[in-house]
Amino acid sequence: MTDCIFCKIAAGKIPSEKVAETDTLFAFRDINPMAPAHILIIPKKHIPNNLALTDDDRLVVGDAYLLANRLARELGVAGAGFRMVTNNGPDAGQAVFHLHFHLLGGRPLGWPPG
Ligand code: AMP
Repeated sequence: MTDCIFCKIAAGKIPSEKVAETDTLFAFRDINPMAPAHILIIPKKHIPNNLALTDDDRLVVGDAYLLANRLARELGVAGAGFRMVTNNGPDAGQAVFHLHFHLLGGRPLGWPPG
């Protein structure tokens, strides 16, 4: 999608702090980190949010979770614990309408979330 900021990041047209890339996924540091480790994992394909997922996207969602495990280990937060969060829609505070998984760790995370 031409005017999507995360599509542009995945395509390298907007700079980001990339931490991983696969054929279908791109992972980079959140510009406004909410925890010592705050990574965004996005599909390269433009998918607006969770509700827009189709059967064709099953593999990429599973791969996103496997990539999160790898990154959590590499970032040293797997043992202490981490969180994968996807905001969907206004009540959840979704600001960017390109599906993304927040990988958060490196500090105790409150529950329930705000
Ligand atoms: P959400 O509220 O779930 O839509 O989260 C969007 C996230 O994208 C926020 O945590 C922002 O800090 C992050 N973000 C927005 N623009 C950029 C960017 N150019 N590079 C890295 N992270 C970004």
